Amino acid sequence: MELAMVEQAGVVGAGGAGFPTHVKLNTKAEILLINAAECEPLLAVDQQLIIRNTKRFVATVNKVARYLGAKQKIVAIKKKHKEAVAALQKTKCQVHLLDNFYPAGDEQVTVLEATGRTVPEGGIPLEVGVVVLNVETVLNIADALEGIPVTQTTLTVTGEVARPLTGTFPIGITASEVIDYCGGATTADYALIDGGPAMGKLMDKTDPITKTTKALLVLPKDHPQIQLRQMPLRAILRQAASACCQCQLCTELCPRYLLGHSIDPARIMRAMAHGTADTSGLTSAMLCSECGVCDLFACPMGLSPRRVNQELKAEFARRGLKNPHREEAQPRASRSGRKVPTGRLVSRLALARYDRPAPWEDVSLSPLEVTIRLKQHIGKPAQPVVEVGEQVQRGQLIAKADGLGANVHASIDGKVQSVDSAIVIRAAR
Ligand code: SF4
Ligand code: SF4
Repeated sequence: MELAMVEQAGVVGAGGAGFPTHVKLNTKAEILLINAAECEPLLAVDQQLIIRNTKRFVATVNKVARYLGAKQKIVAIKKKHKEAVAALQKTKCQVHLLDNFYPAGDEQVTVLEATGRTVPEGGIPLEVGVVVLNVETVLNIADALEGIPVTQTTLTVTGEVARPLTGTFPIGITASEVIDYCGGATTADYALIDGGPAMGKLMDKTDPITKTTKALLVLPKDHPQIQLRQMPLRAILRQAASACCQCQLCTELCPRYLLGHSIDPARIMRAMAHGTADTSGLTSAMLCSECGVCDLFACPMGLSPRRVNQELKAEFARRGLKNPHREEAQPRASRSGRKVPTGRLVSRLALARYDRPAPWEDVSLSPLEVTIRLKQHIGKPAQPVVEVGEQVQRGQLIAKADGLGANVHASIDGKVQSVDSAIVIRAAR
């Protein structure tokens, strides 16, 4: 396998924050773990990609494993995805069957479930000999090895849409174009979540989809999941100060605490309730994965330790504080009885009515215009290599990685309209 081809094609982790894949693979590892957990409720991307591309997927897993020198390659997938599991079991791939709990796809949780190894707090899977990739990333590597760059992304569109579906869309089209393709929103006043209902972020209808977009969840503007995300931090902190009853449930159900990490959201909430001005003793907030189990499921008072942790992390980043927590971890004995069943999470999130199939569709779209962000990945924005007025073709390099980052390519043929934090291309018609 040629790592340079993966770099050239601009492959990044498609299932998360977009870590550049050529950087992640530039190592040796004992185990290659494919995270096909499809952790968030309502999403149907990984399972359908596996069903449609089994041979290519498994062949690429084998190539990557050889490159890493990995003796073991494991695909971790929920046993409820029976068709995808059956397809994998017809190959020589080792399959680890996950129960349907949240967050089964939290990288550190998946590593423990599939390999029995525990990533140290504040650490990465490579520290225990494991490299983790997601399903779409593997298929993007397959394309890269054939010289095809990343110009499209696969996502589930669901919620208040006429036709929920899963399909592959050109990078750079707007969320509202995707929704229109799905027959339009079924409620006039809607808001959008980019990603799954637990960890996804609010998105504007005019925002473009990127290499890491995995889902568009369309919800009525007054849905509790929209309101929770819109609540100002001041109100969250005020609530934390007045309403936390110190029941400890946020800590006892926290997936990272259950891995044995020293995160303790209840202690942080207690400190906030006492109005502590000195936050230097609260650095364990840096161990928060922002999974949302505490605020979406655990807290009986409707408080959000997650938002408090996010704020503390931002404050520590502004102060240039590095994560001091690096202890080896041992999963806590209580862990097995405290996994959150995904079905219960869906009910708790008031999403049961949207828990319906989002079947595969071969998307056919010829967008008039695309807006392709220069930063769709962890690291620095890519540097433009095209100018306004230039004609470009689909797949052409339009911005080059600058240090840690990833190349960016045109997703349609057309003329460059503007170059800023994104490159706008209008189709030649
Ligand atoms: S969001 Fe809450 S439950 Fe999840 S890791 Fe952070 S503190 Fe723990
Ligand atoms: S679960 Fe809620 S009420 Fe209980 S300790 Fe945590 S923040 Fe406080």
